[in-house]
Amino acid sequence: MRAVVVHAAHDLRIDEIAGQELAEAQVRVRIEAGGICGSDLHYYHEGGIGTQIVLKEPMVLGHEIAGRVEALGSGVAGLSIGQRVAVSPSKPCRECRYCQAGQQIHCLDMRFYGSAMRYPHVQGAFREGLVCDAAQCYPVSERISAGEAAMAEPLAVCLHAVRRAGAMLGRRVLVTGCGPIGALCVLAARRAGAAEIVATDINDTPGALISRIGTDRFVNTASEPSALEAYAHDKGTFDVMLEASGSEKALVGALAVVKPGGIIVQVGLGGTATLPINTLVAKELELRGTFRFHEEFALAVTLIDKGLIDVKPLITATLPFTDARAAFDLASDRSRAMKVQLAFA
Ligand code: ZN
Repeated sequence: MRAVVVHAAHDLRIDEIAGQELAEAQVRVRIEAGGICGSDLHYYHEGGIGTQIVLKEPMVLGHEIAGRVEALGSGVAGLSIGQRVAVSPSKPCRECRYCQAGQQIHCLDMRFYGSAMRYPHVQGAFREGLVCDAAQCYPVSERISAGEAAMAEPLAVCLHAVRRAGAMLGRRVLVTGCGPIGALCVLAARRAGAAEIVATDINDTPGALISRIGTDRFVNTASEPSALEAYAHDKGTFDVMLEASGSEKALVGALAVVKPGGIIVQVGLGGTATLPINTLVAKELELRGTFRFHEEFALAVTLIDKGLIDVKPLITATLPFTDARAAFDLASDRSRAMKVQLAFA
């Protein structure tokens, strides 16, 4: 079968790879759709993520996937051949102290598809056929496209981020960074009951889309650097900030507009940041991290499947996987793309 394999920075190939054995509790999924994530783009452009995660061998990319079940292991119940499923790329060990404590996100032996965090790398899912545990498969109904089902993974990230923020009903929320994760944070916060959502970016392009999906106001903080000052009165007016840009500037800028006791959830990965600690202290702000997801994957599938969150507008292009390089280049261009997906079938 063929797969999308990154060999080094700017060396992305369609390679023939060996099929995988099917064990008792596993299924083989014919992949139909795969969304390109920011981490895939880092491997493509830089051959790694930051200085810690570096490609040491060729790796199949991809972890936002959906397809149809095409073979069942002998011990699998509850799935049938031909069924469309979203596949969770997360495989916690289930045995370490964190898994035992229900904190699978912090698993000491996590195998997450398409990640060079460990060596040998965990191969990804941009491949024609994927053998995975039946437990990783979440059926969706036929009215949901494979592309929508593949959005369950990034949506799960954002549902977890919103959970990390605590009660959302009636809250005023600031979302900084309007890439796919910022946009999905808007949808997740709205579904969770946010009363007002303001979203920012340093680029005008996502503005129209982000407004169309139900954001109250979009602010370009590059062209209107003082626009957020309107929210700074009375020590700040936002209850919650979801920081999805990974930018120090966005994070520091929020300290003036998040109200005392407010919660800042850092979703975007950044490098380092210098923060005025005294502001955090005096306003009793809470800065919280959020990383991946666990049970939120099932919730994401449910919300998409029931039409309670519409991810369709965010899928701005779908290209054949054999055009992966063009797709990755398009996904890297924020002036032209939100979520770009690969079609495998
Ligand atoms: Zn574990």
